[in-house]
Amino acid sequence: MCDELNRILKQRELLFGNQQCWIINKSNISGSGVFTNKSYETGEIIFRDTPIVIGPRSSVLPPACVSCMKMGVPLITCSKGCRLPVCNSECENTISHERECRLLLEFSVKKGEFWSPLLYRALTALRCLLVSDEEKKLIKCLSANKKTNHIEMLFLKKELLKNFSDEEEQFLNLSCAVLSGTAFETELGEGKIKASLRGLYPLAGMMNHSCVPNTQHYFLLENNIQTMYVVATCPIPEGMELTTHYSYLFWPTIIRRHFLFATKQFWCTCNRCGDPTEFDTNLSALECNCGGLILPLCSIDMKSDWKCGSCDEVVPASKLPFAKPLEVLNKSETTSGYKMKYFSIIEKFEQVWSVGHKNTPYEALTDEELENKEKITKELIALNNSLKLGDSRIKGLLSLELYDTFKEKINRNNFIEDEEEIDWVRENAKKILNIAIE
Ligand SMILES: [Zn+2]
Ligand SMILES: [Zn+2]
Ligand SMILES: [Zn+2]
Ligand SMILES: [Zn+2]
Repeated sequence: MCDELNRILKQRELLFGNQQCWIINKSNISGSGVFTNKSYETGEIIFRDTPIVIGPRSSVLPPACVSCMKMGVPLITCSKGCRLPVCNSECENTISHERECRLLLEFSVKKGEFWSPLLYRALTALRCLLVSDEEKKLIKCLSANKKTNHIEMLFLKKELLKNFSDEEEQFLNLSCAVLSGTAFETELGEGKIKASLRGLYPLAGMMNHSCVPNTQHYFLLENNIQTMYVVATCPIPEGMELTTHYSYLFWPTIIRRHFLFATKQFWCTCNRCGDPTEFDTNLSALECNCGGLILPLCSIDMKSDWKCGSCDEVVPASKLPFAKPLEVLNKSETTSGYKMKYFSIIEKFEQVWSVGHKNTPYEALTDEELENKEKITKELIALNNSLKLGDSRIKGLLSLELYDTFKEKINRNNFIEDEEEIDWVRENAKKILNIAIE
């Protein structure tokens, strides 16, 4: 299978005129993976990828024009009867929309006065029927979610009068499973109004997950194609497997692993998951009454006992506050009375993203609040580094916050400037986020 995949993916990449510096091979993590053919420096672009299909996420409204994906413009219903929203007749007549429009009409869309939210939410899955045979082969190679009863299929059946053939139905089901297993979320548009999309990027989609990923990615619109750039977050030697992440990287191990299992059906066993201290950050720890920290004896065994490092108290798995780990995320204290160290990290992130924004703009902050923002932003960057996340996207966003904090301090004239530090932070944000900063 790797040979065929390499052949098709290389052909796609040739379109960029790139030199191919990766190869698909058998992976120790799972199935096949993407491996480097040369070494990479931090920040170096490893490959570009374009989507086989891209479109609305199945859960997201309000809608964008299905043709240009613009949001925040008045939308009309396509006059040809496909019941999808477009912004004008020009968008109605693009080649890409005409193809899906015709396909929908062949399946007899139920009549209705307005555009259909259900068809809009199922559109990305439906677009999979329109891809080339080679691309269909690629979809079949990408890892699929094991779920059945896909919501997109229910929506399509509700709005279409004609049935799919067995072959079409089978491929649509597979496409839904692959979309939920491998699609990358992306946004299109300017300013605050951005359309929320998901795209199947076949090469990036071949990368396996790690909670210590060695790549990050960003998107650029090139020739009207939402192009993905995959970049090294740390030095990567030749022959190394490239990894991405499908879970938030600042969650503690137990939450990440449950999330990955719930959404992608696998239990991660990466280096970080295997280390109860998560590289000495103790991100997973519960606070013991004695003031010590309680950590799992074996972090990849969900039935493992936990133990306090100071008073030796043992907490059996049944007494842990993680009966429903994903619910823990929404509470500040767990039902069993243990406080998670992680909650203080969430608080810090919330502060960094809010202080200096919306309700508390920089000008309105006291000197003390400004100092505090600098302090916690630096702490979170240090945590990023301790978690071995390298030049991750989060580090880029934190660096940008830190740079804005420095700028405000300079404005106030009460700051002994360390120009080197400021330059370094600005360059970090610029480089990682691939944006221009004044
Ligand atoms: Zn449009
Ligand atoms: Zn139409
Ligand atoms: Zn992991
Ligand atoms: Zn204790």
